[in-house]
Amino acid sequence: MHPGEWSFLDSMWRWASFATDAGWTQAAGRVAIERLRHERLARLLAWTRRHSRFYAAHWGAAPRHDLRLADLPPVHKAALMARFDEWVTDAAVTRKGVEAFTRDLGRIGESFLGRYAVFSSSGTTGVPGLIVHDADALAVYDALGATRLGALAPAWNWNQPLSGHRYALIAATEGHFAGIVSWERLRALHPWFEANARVFPVTAPIREICDELERFKPTVVASYATVLRALAHEKDAGRLAITPSVLWYGGEWLAPIARDHIERAFGCRVAGDYGASEFLNIAFECPRGSLHLNDDWVVLEPVDADYRPVGPDTPSASVLLTNLANHVQPLVRYELGDSVTLASKPCGCGSPFPVIRVDGRRDEILRLDDARGRDVPVMPMALCTAVEEGTGEHRFQVVQTGPRALRVRLEPHRRGREAAAGVKDALARFLARQGLAGISIRVETGVIAAHPVSGKFRQVWREKERASA
Ligand SMILES: [Zn+2]
Repeated sequence: MHPGEWSFLDSMWRWASFATDAGWTQAAGRVAIERLRHERLARLLAWTRRHSRFYAAHWGAAPRHDLRLADLPPVHKAALMARFDEWVTDAAVTRKGVEAFTRDLGRIGESFLGRYAVFSSSGTTGVPGLIVHDADALAVYDALGATRLGALAPAWNWNQPLSGHRYALIAATEGHFAGIVSWERLRALHPWFEANARVFPVTAPIREICDELERFKPTVVASYATVLRALAHEKDAGRLAITPSVLWYGGEWLAPIARDHIERAFGCRVAGDYGASEFLNIAFECPRGSLHLNDDWVVLEPVDADYRPVGPDTPSASVLLTNLANHVQPLVRYELGDSVTLASKPCGCGSPFPVIRVDGRRDEILRLDDARGRDVPVMPMALCTAVEEGTGEHRFQVVQTGPRALRVRLEPHRRGREAAAGVKDALARFLARQGLAGISIRVETGVIAAHPVSGKFRQVWREKERASA
């Protein structure tokens, strides 16, 4: 077996076991869910204290027995990454090894050490993260998708080869990001998926993406919310002739008005989920459009700026995540940063899982003019990916200040002047690929004002022309 190959049998058995369990839990209702969460949490905390040197020290003063989540201090990505080798619970997993693995773009979707998946993320805090998931965690994410999304997510279901679907993913492909890694892993495990799935790099010009989609004729299109919005615009303008049956979004916030526009343009359902590199399937949308939290496998604690719990129907300042499925790199009260609102009323769909609302990142699609004055949409996710991949810089903000002008604020990781020149160059090359050569780009260096608790900052937006007039 090739060292990066996944074991088909092992993956299938784990999936079958967790899928049965996840289906049963859904039917068994609230009492069973609470009991399972309690058991899984107790197991995770005991394991983590015994095997993670980072947490053993971090939890020093907490009681030895009957540990409760509320007794434990929150953790943050920057501190965990700084002590990566003490954080993980398998000595074979080292920061050095994981970094070498993720530097190799030829290994996207392969297993690390024959048993782990690695997702790299910059998130919206500007601190790059490397999250390692074990085989049980991967099987849990797959099983949640297969049992709780039904017909909307055939990609996760091992029993779907006859569905006749053709899947298109438009995503950042030049890095070990959660979306592309999960996709490539499924392709490696399922020959039927491999034959009916294609990936389109989000950094390609929108015109090129539309042409390729027309040739491929997908029935399921998965991407970021801003990409689906741009595609709806192309469809309305008569420049995109595809007829998918489901459009899938994740990773970004989708405003209700934008969702209506996309659904009208394509005449099909838009469905979404809430996930992160730290836990792939935190919540799924039900047919009524509510996001249901998979709280048998993940604990989300909405908190205020001082990490005190926030009650239902109140948007939180931040949120703490505890992943009950993954034991190789424990995440216990990990600050995710999004604003989450827990709904006090259950959803009419009958699901036993609680309803949440998430206000994550709200980047805007830029609309620049090409040399002939034609309007060209530029997706924020594509633009940020191009800069990050081209320069290794993560803390920057891009503002459109005119029809052919951008301003960038950069908090450089390397020497200021060199970094600024690199960012300008990477942006110019990316824009030229979109047919936008000669756009004016001004890069200034300085500190970026981030949210005091979450560390998040807004990354891409358009300056409203008459806002100050
Ligand atoms: Zn529902």
